[in-house]
Amino acid sequence: MKYYPLIDMDSDGIDKVPMFPYTDKAAISERHHLYLAEDALHNFRLYTNEPYSTADYRGYKVHCPYCGAVFKANLPYQETEKS
Ligand SMILES: [Zn+2]
Repeated sequence: MKYYPLIDMDSDGIDKVPMFPYTDKAAISERHHLYLAEDALHNFRLYTNEPYSTADYRGYKVHCPYCGAVFKANLPYQETEKS
């Protein structure tokens, strides 16, 4: 599986753009608190290491690593376990 770290493209932190992917989940969760995991081709899940509520994600504009389109607000997301 590939994991794409998300970085802010604007000062408000609304636009989230994927960077070059990792293949090691442990490595990315150590370095990044927000990232996409590719479950299947062109099918992504949003992960966070921080305890936000679902509502906090509704305002984000997360861009697709392939086509750059903004995902729908109901992008599935999952919190990783705190270590
Ligand atoms: Zn796409």
